[in-house]
Amino acid sequence: MKIDKSKPVMLTGATGYVAGWLVKKLLDNGLTVHAAVRDPDNKEKLKYLNKIAEKSSGTIKYFKADLLAKDSYLEAMKGCELVYHTASPFSLSIKDAQKDLIDPALKGTKNVLESVNKTDTVKRVVLTSSVAAIFGDNKDIEDLPNKIITEEHWNTSSSLTHQPYSYSKMLAEKEAWKISKEQTRWDLVVINPSLVIGPGINPHGTSESFNLVKQIGDGTMKAGAPGLIVGGVDVRDLAEAHYNAGFLPEAEGRYITSNKAVTFVSLGKILRKKYGDAYPFPKKEIPKFMIWMLAPLVGFKRKMISRNIGYSWNADNSKSIEKLGVKYRPIEESIIDFFQQMIENDVFKKEK
Ligand code: NAP
Repeated sequence: MKIDKSKPVMLTGATGYVAGWLVKKLLDNGLTVHAAVRDPDNKEKLKYLNKIAEKSSGTIKYFKADLLAKDSYLEAMKGCELVYHTASPFSLSIKDAQKDLIDPALKGTKNVLESVNKTDTVKRVVLTSSVAAIFGDNKDIEDLPNKIITEEHWNTSSSLTHQPYSYSKMLAEKEAWKISKEQTRWDLVVINPSLVIGPGINPHGTSESFNLVKQIGDGTMKAGAPGLIVGGVDVRDLAEAHYNAGFLPEAEGRYITSNKAVTFVSLGKILRKKYGDAYPFPKKEIPKFMIWMLAPLVGFKRKMISRNIGYSWNADNSKSIEKLGVKYRPIEESIIDFFQQMIENDVFKKEK
């Protein structure tokens, strides 16, 4: 599917952490970006995108849209051949899983793709899914024959009450494949990133990525960190993956976009090497039984601890490297650049 670069490209969730670097990449390549945002009048939120637009050869135009407002993306989509659907809430601390995660993810994806069906110009949709759509708990990975996730796998263990964010991503991606297979005009390409790290275009991002990395330096894990192993990927490499998924004619299917498996302690070790003891980085892991005991007190379910802490994490990222041309930068660079941005933006001022 060849995409004409003289046509505008639409993005949902343009204000988001993941979307930011993709917007920059599109603008730097001289494209016109139709940025769909919830509040185009929020000058404070848009100032970071405006800044990158000013320095680029491209053009950004804002459109008001909401995942839950039917047909609200139609205007932004007009004349576009390529649509990126990145918008979806990424938060681990929610009150109502159905309302806060599942509805915007699932109904939002349906809404966006119904508008794609009504917009004759669209030829390709790139969906930002997650490895969370591929597996639910780390134990699921250990139970796989080769203990490694590939694009063939699906999350079968998450639910409304257990890992609801992962559940929302699985439901939304499945719905996207279902809708795409009911027609032939546009194709669907899906990016499945692991935990995204690296500096944000907006240094005060609200994605859960910011919260998790902040906790490595703000003393939350001073006495010890949970022994959770996750995949990590740089936000800039992820933008490259999205860009190529949009414009490479042969791009197809799902792409696990993940660099290396990391833990809070391994990230703390990298940061200590750079910053010494200037910040209370975690040095050791808390024994699993202790976290299991304390879990309800800090808002975690024991089932989540039982099925995740202490299990390995492996993902096959070869398709993203070989077919999408992603060159993963060292994870050290990702975490240091991210942390440095937080320091420069006074994130740790109060804690120090
Ligand atoms: P983020 O910074 O919180 O971005 C989420 C975006 O979704 C924001 O632009 C937000 O808009 C928009 N959004 C949320 N609810 C909406 C609604 N009802 N209507 C319209 N827009 C809405 O989070 P992120 O980390 O960049 O996540 C972006 C995508 O990457 C998500 O699909 C997420 O699942 C996926 N992902 C993230 C990670 C990660 O580690 N960060 C890993 C794998 C996959 P507002 O600015 O108006 O709130």
